[in-house]
Amino acid sequence: MYAKLYRAARLLLPGGLATQRNERQLEATEWLSRAELEAWQLERIQRLVRYAYEHVPFYRETYRQAGVHPEDIRRLEDFQALPFLTKEDVKRHREALVAPNFRGKLYPLETGGSTGQPTQFLVEDSFWRWNVALRNRGRGWYGVREGAKMALVWGAPRDMPDQSWFRRLRARIQRHRVLNAFSMTEAKMETFAEMLVHWQPAMIKAYASALALFAEFLKTRGITGIRPRLVETTAEKVTGPQRQLLKEVFQCPVADCYSSREFVTIAYECARGGLHVCETRCVEIVADGRVVPPGQLGEIVVTSLHQFAMPFIRYKIGDMGIYDTAPCPCGRGMPVLREVVGRTHDFLVASDGQFVHGEFFAYTFRVKPEVVRYQVHQTDRHHLDVKIVCREPVSDVWLDGVRAEIQARFGESMHISLQVVDKIELTPAGKHRYIISEVNPDFV
Ligand SMILES: [Zn+2]
Repeated sequence: MYAKLYRAARLLLPGGLATQRNERQLEATEWLSRAELEAWQLERIQRLVRYAYEHVPFYRETYRQAGVHPEDIRRLEDFQALPFLTKEDVKRHREALVAPNFRGKLYPLETGGSTGQPTQFLVEDSFWRWNVALRNRGRGWYGVREGAKMALVWGAPRDMPDQSWFRRLRARIQRHRVLNAFSMTEAKMETFAEMLVHWQPAMIKAYASALALFAEFLKTRGITGIRPRLVETTAEKVTGPQRQLLKEVFQCPVADCYSSREFVTIAYECARGGLHVCETRCVEIVADGRVVPPGQLGEIVVTSLHQFAMPFIRYKIGDMGIYDTAPCPCGRGMPVLREVVGRTHDFLVASDGQFVHGEFFAYTFRVKPEVVRYQVHQTDRHHLDVKIVCREPVSDVWLDGVRAEIQARFGESMHISLQVVDKIELTPAGKHRYIISEVNPDFV
């Protein structure tokens, strides 16, 4: 009943109708065949590229230099002739990436924390309207509708209800209850668990590793009876063992949502296990500058078909992925990502035993433009080794400030080594690891 009222009220709020229109659009495209979907996307890609060429200085210039013109894009394959957009481009040419003719309101956001190189970018209203529609559609596959009770094991400061009275009110209206993944103690987990047993959320949204930790805790303590319809993991890849554990503890399906700061929802896992790339996202897998066929690993390149104020066309998002070779047994034509590599986070442990999700550092450094990269290594419960690569020389006062921030989270008795280094070694696979933790949780 509440969920119904909530959805009715949402329609009256700004953007409510636009979101509903998008949801209807998705209902119409969800069951298109691959060929029909590609035709639908081609039309939107053509429109987007033409718009970018005519209105966005950065694209006009780079496309001219590359000798490509929007009219050259007649088939989907022609799209591959367009140059990539890199994070460096977004950083350097932010102004030139915004369409000067765009009249709507613009909202500043920052690129993904897990890249270690956050950059500001701008989005318009339709960015939110589409994202809500895409997210609602995915959850709808599991019978969860907007307005249903949701428990979160989360850390993003902007989503935390304890940040302000407005957020607390919003969380109440939306029926969200949150366990902070940046400060999980056994006592807090216990209180949260007891509340959930009574409250019975329809779904749980969480960082995979944070929820796995909570599930492990529930299992160890023998707390049962939290029975959501859906567990949605996002912001990091859910590993096989984590998925098993979550299914066992919560007795419900686990859906992975592949999302990023730049796009929010990119792909959503269906009940048959296919991580479907949403219709308004064009995802290409690229190796050595070329699109590779399904089954091969490469960089993930994303184009958003509904962002016009600051278009993202062929954007190298910084993750690696593989397309599945077979269609999904569910029958939907949307392509399926077999794997998204490189979204893993580790947990760190504070001196008082609190678990701190690795994303804490992403948020800490996101607001420090001096930091290019970072790596945090925890060898035991008393030592934390933080290395940072800086764009420019930083003062001792600045470093002391950073140290104090980390110290406040990890406790006074944590020995923190904070070092500015020239370079951070990559893993043998060539990826950057932000968090390395050798401390395993041991619940009692
Ligand atoms: Zn499917």
